[in-house]
Amino acid sequence: MNKTITLFLFVSFALLFAKAPEEGQYPLSEIKKLDLQKAGLLINQDYIYNPNGVSLIDALVKVNGCTGSFVSKDGLIITNHHCAFAGVNAASTPEHNYLEDGFLAESREQEINAKGYKVKITESYKDVTDIILKAVIGIESLEERTKIISKKMEQLGENASDKKNSIEASVSEMFAGQSYILFKYRIIEDVRLVYVPPRTIGEFGGERDNWMWPRHTGDFTFMRAYVAPDGSSAEYSKDNIPYNPKKYLEVNPNGVNEGDFVFILGYPGRTYRNQPSQFIEYQYNYQLPYISEIYEWTIKLIEAKTKENEKMALAYSTHIKRLSNTMKNYKGKIQGLRNTGLVKTKINEESEIARFIKTSPVLNDNYKNLFNEIDEAYSRRMDIAEANLWFKVLYKLSNDFKLAHFVIQNAEEKRKENEDRKFKFKDENIAKSLQKFDSIFKISMESIEKEFLTKMICDARKFSENSRIDVIDNIFDNDANKSLIMRFVENNFISQKITNRENFDKLSELSLDELKELKNPLIRFALELNEQYKKIESENNKISGALSELLPQFNEVKREWKDTQFIPDANGTLRLTYGYIKGYSPRDAVYSSPITSLKGVIEKSYLGNEYAIPKKIKELYKAKDFGQFYNPKLKSIPVGLLYNMDTTGGNSGSPILDAKGRLIGVNFDRAYEATINDFAWNDAYSRSIGVDIRYVLWITQKLGGANYLLEEMGVDIK
Ligand code: ASP
Repeated sequence: MNKTITLFLFVSFALLFAKAPEEGQYPLSEIKKLDLQKAGLLINQDYIYNPNGVSLIDALVKVNGCTGSFVSKDGLIITNHHCAFAGVNAASTPEHNYLEDGFLAESREQEINAKGYKVKITESYKDVTDIILKAVIGIESLEERTKIISKKMEQLGENASDKKNSIEASVSEMFAGQSYILFKYRIIEDVRLVYVPPRTIGEFGGERDNWMWPRHTGDFTFMRAYVAPDGSSAEYSKDNIPYNPKKYLEVNPNGVNEGDFVFILGYPGRTYRNQPSQFIEYQYNYQLPYISEIYEWTIKLIEAKTKENEKMALAYSTHIKRLSNTMKNYKGKIQGLRNTGLVKTKINEESEIARFIKTSPVLNDNYKNLFNEIDEAYSRRMDIAEANLWFKVLYKLSNDFKLAHFVIQNAEEKRKENEDRKFKFKDENIAKSLQKFDSIFKISMESIEKEFLTKMICDARKFSENSRIDVIDNIFDNDANKSLIMRFVENNFISQKITNRENFDKLSELSLDELKELKNPLIRFALELNEQYKKIESENNKISGALSELLPQFNEVKREWKDTQFIPDANGTLRLTYGYIKGYSPRDAVYSSPITSLKGVIEKSYLGNEYAIPKKIKELYKAKDFGQFYNPKLKSIPVGLLYNMDTTGGNSGSPILDAKGRLIGVNFDRAYEATINDFAWNDAYSRSIGVDIRYVLWITQKLGGANYLLEEMGVDIK
């Protein structure tokens, strides 16, 4: 081979390897093992995470189910518009509709309490695997094992919590049945809205663009954390003062370019990559189609019923948004699984592992029954899948049954000693659990409930043998039609008006025996459902118990076969991921470049509806009033960023950081093809989406008129 070619190949290979990011949502404990400088980081790794001092991770917060970061010394937080959505929704009325119009606090006094929000800061972590696993030595019953493990996790968390000093602790399972970490979090309970762009910016493109690239959504919001004057955590009070974080992020108003190294710190929710093929089959055949279909049906129902009722439409906004988000994500996953053939790939991989096991007598001794046992556990799960999912949906989406089930469970739990009760029914937690129903008492619509329950009953009547819902089978014979079922629902369930607070409160005071004596047909039906649900829960616990023994073995032998270490699946704990601003080819003959611009916002705006934008944006665009955020290469303001980092739900609101650890964007979504990231990451299709800091700053300054926020973040206004 000629020398130049050799050199060229060598350089290409070196580049390929230097540039290829590894799959991974690295836990704190793994960060020091990475060579981020080689990948493009220009600062010391200690600057990102330093257990003995202050580092970037101290600027990170968990905002309910999302991530956010401090961007000023006065507790200013940047996160996503969709993360703050419920708080904005709760503060909005048809007269002051902050969701539609946006919100700006001109001064600190005007900042609004974001009801239901709290933020958490990771303070420290400790491996507690030994303590947890010691508790199950010699325990044969699989159901018992699952229970003991979760009890022990709960106990260790409670013991390490220190309410007086605003510390909440909890144990997270890293590898199922194998490793456990105790995390301590500082809790801040007073969180306020500072600047929220109008929905036409924060949710630009609506559901049509959700989970899609190219994207032009200004999905950001500013909030602020407050504490009591003595620095302790306190609920909302006028006397509270802004929190001074140990660390806040520096903002880089110049952003980044295509190909640049970037990284994300955040709290990814859940991934399932270390699971066997049967798990994916379960998802593909049951969970994903069932949930996406019933959610889609429910969304249409609610939209139709609230169409003429502005107040109710507003009240249901957050609910609809959440259902739509999951629905589209699941449809993306179905498509992704179909296109990638992931189940098949996993099955092939497992056959290879099975062959590998046979090559060694020791392995054979240890693992010869492994795959059969996993198969058996999953076939039991699949047998009851329809009923299992049906119950989950019923208790989640039916207000009547959510409340009735709570009343019954509470009565059951009250019979136990406080310390043996399920978490939400303990004396110290019950008030908070009840508070969660406040919104139901305000917004429940009977016409929605009636149709929803009719559909649930009709659906259940088509389930297979192992998933029959007994009480439904006992009541309805074969020729019961939809209108008869609807009448039944109306006369027996809706008529009981359990969503009326007084009625609910009265029922809540009754003991289990008293509930059983009642003539209330809703409670009777719910009691029967509850009996069956308990059996399903117990079966689920047995299956989980079996899997908590089998999966560590599965991962162990897979590790040996692959001769590599894995990263634990995401579990809501702090992680780092890194990669590059990078385009991709989502479909045959299509290539998408990785940065969108204001030009695209304007182009889409002519389509109207979810692409409508504030008039002011068009005026600013026409006047070329781009301030300092104009990018000559793009000939516009950068809006959306695409990158090959490894993210999932929960990473929403995560800061996107440049090679020097400065904020250059806020993560908010993934491309449609990347919804299957949760099952398998791949550089070909795994792309996440963020909003560019230049668009954030431009909107905040020019549309929001909030120069003071730029100043607070140390951005010089030119
Ligand atoms: N938008 C997403 C969410 O629902 C973020 C993601 O999953 O990537 O949280």
